[in-house]
This record gives sequence, structure tokens and C-alpha cells, in this order.
Amino acid sequence: MIRVLRAQAGMEFDIVAGGHVWHAVIAGIADGTVRFNLIAEVEADPALPVTLLLSVYKFDRMEWAIEKATELGAECIVPVIARRSEKHLAQAAAGRVERWRRVALEASKQARRSDVLRIEDPLVLKVAVKEAEQAVRLVLAEQERSTTLHHALSEALDAAGDEVPAIWMAVGPEGGWTAEEEAMFDAESWKPVSLGPRILRAETAAITAMAVAAALLE
Ligand code: SAH
Repeated sequence: MIRVLRAQAGMEFDIVAGGHVWHAVIAGIADGTVRFNLIAEVEADPALPVTLLLSVYKFDRMEWAIEKATELGAECIVPVIARRSEKHLAQAAAGRVERWRRVALEASKQARRSDVLRIEDPLVLKVAVKEAEQAVRLVLAEQERSTTLHHALSEALDAAGDEVPAIWMAVGPEGGWTAEEEAMFDAESWKPVSLGPRILRAETAAITAMAVAAALLE
């Protein structure tokens, strides 16, 4: 703050402290330490009740998806080892989680979130499909032609009435889901949904899905 923002006493900032966003003023700067007076808590909206199952694929693109999903208000990301997740990436995923959590923390601060997007430890898809039975569970599938995400989600929200349900959305890896995985989703009653007739990259699909959910939930 001192070097990059040329912080001086009297300057005002929104800061995140103890899980809350505060409007604060710099009281003083001494020995490389910036001291704030907290003026008032800034009302920060809670996260949307959305969990993204994000298949493990190229790490740089995944990180981008994590950052953007955080900005768009996702509550949680579950990294998922899918059949077409590259083997060496699947093996490295557990060791990457701390870095993903740092990405989520930075993005949460930047987005002025009062909470931090949670990143779970990676799960193999076979296990992940059995989670959150009571949630609205939607699997993004480019082969799906009839039901759009927008339609399925509107319907589910209407059916839930005043209570906003938990929403889980699964995004496949670069190579997409295998037929066996589609059958697994089907057996656990996940609903396949489309984001339109074009094939999106996984990170585009994740962000688009978050934007559709945010538009319906906010
Ligand atoms: N197998 C594809 C690419 C998969 S895209 C190919 O032909 O190259 C990666 C993931 O993004 C998919 O598994 C799916 O979850 C999601 N996705 C991409 N386009 C989509 C669309 N039009 N509708 C729904 N999901 C989509």
C-alpha cells in the first residue's frame, strides 16, 4: 500500500478484516505499517448458493475459471477428476488445492466479497456425483439440445417457491464427458442442460453457467 498506492493518512479504502468488509480510513503510517480506523461495515452480499463441479484440466485455464466464478458469486468449487482429465494433472490436483485457495482468496477480496469462495479437496467424479442429493443438480452437456440451463434453473427456482435451493452445476474437461460418465450422472438423477448450440471451452462454460445462475438468483 505504501509503495504502490502511495498510502497516506486520511486516505479511505474498503478493506476486508476478520471476514467482514469495512470502510476504513488510514489513521497513520509508521515503520512500514499502515494503521486503519474502521468507519463502518460495508454490506457485502453473501455468495450465491451455487457449487461448481469443475473438472480438472489445464491448470492455467482452471485458475482463470476459479477467479471468475469467485467474482460472479459462486459459493464453492469442487475440483473433479473426470475420465478425460489428463493423468498427470489429475495426479497433481491434490497438491494444487492450496494455490487454488489462494486464487479464490485474492479474487474474493478484489470482488469485495465478505466471504471467501471455498475450494474442496478434489474428488473423483464417481464420488462427486453422489454428493448433495437434495440440491438442484445440473450437468452441462454440449450434446443436450432441448433443455437450456436457463429453462431448467427457472423451473427449479419456481418449484422451490420462497426457499432458494442449493444449486450444483458440473462442467466437463476439455475432451468432454464420456458416455459412461453421462450414464453415471443420469443414474444419480442429474439433469443434462445446454448453454446453446456452440461448443464452449470448459472455462467459458463455467463462467456462462455462473452468469445465467446469477441473473436468475440476484
Ligand atoms: N467434447 C467437446 C468439448 C467439451 S467442452 C468437443 O467436442 O471438443 C468442455 C465442457 O464444457 C463440456 O463437458 C460441458 O460441460 C461444457 N460445455 C461446452 N459447451 C457447452 C454447451 N454448448 N452446452 C453445455 N455445456 C457445454
